[in-house]
Amino acid sequence: MRKAGAVVAGVLSKLQESAKAGVTTGQLDEIALQMTAEAGADALFKGVRSPQAKRPFPGAICASLNDEVVHGIPSKQTVLADGDILSIDFGVRLNGYCGDSAVTVPIGRISGKKRKLLETTEGTLKVAIAEARPGVRWSQVAGKMQEYAEAAGFSVVREFVGHGIGTQMHEDPKVPNFVSEELLADDIVLTEGMVLAVEPMVNAGRHGVRVLGNGWTVVTRDGQCSAHFEHTIAIVAGGCEVLTSREALTMG
Ligand code: MG
Ligand code: MG
Repeated sequence: MRKAGAVVAGVLSKLQESAKAGVTTGQLDEIALQMTAEAGADALFKGVRSPQAKRPFPGAICASLNDEVVHGIPSKQTVLADGDILSIDFGVRLNGYCGDSAVTVPIGRISGKKRKLLETTEGTLKVAIAEARPGVRWSQVAGKMQEYAEAAGFSVVREFVGHGIGTQMHEDPKVPNFVSEELLADDIVLTEGMVLAVEPMVNAGRHGVRVLGNGWTVVTRDGQCSAHFEHTIAIVAGGCEVLTSREALTMG
């Protein structure tokens, strides 16, 4: 899973630097496909089916622009512009094991509010990484994530949550970014060796979302922006290891 995570990190780093005004999300998808093939991996999202959608997901990446929350479809018609924010979600399977990660990228100069939304959403993921360790209940982690996002005046999406990950992209348990009766009734205690894809989706306005007619793209109901950060993390003795970390890459 470290190897799969490293491939995901490498691709997302490249997409992060390639996402600029004038570039299309279709071009970013092509870069991801090519790098995935070169790494001998398979793109996880391409061809995934959903009961709401007539067509399988066509992209290697999810490219969600501004008020799009997740599952935006990359397209040669979608040209990035100065002031946009773009959430890029990407996953691979390598040697039978999966990695899944997402980042929201500013395009050119963005507004102060968008900047704060990006910092808060990344911060919400960092809260989870700081708190996740053996013996901790997930509701404790989720509570701190929710508190952090809401303290900034933003809201946490309810309909989509993080997940266990292994030989399949989506495995048990679900790891929501907020506390609910449902979570408290069916809480999990983190144990060494668990691998989770933790992925806060934070809305600038209210938490409500809806799915567009294509059956895939999730947008905010109020039309305000949304951001998404995700890492695949392994629970290890005393803490967690971020398997999709881009830090070693960006320092190099
Ligand atoms: Mg993802
Ligand atoms: Mg995920």
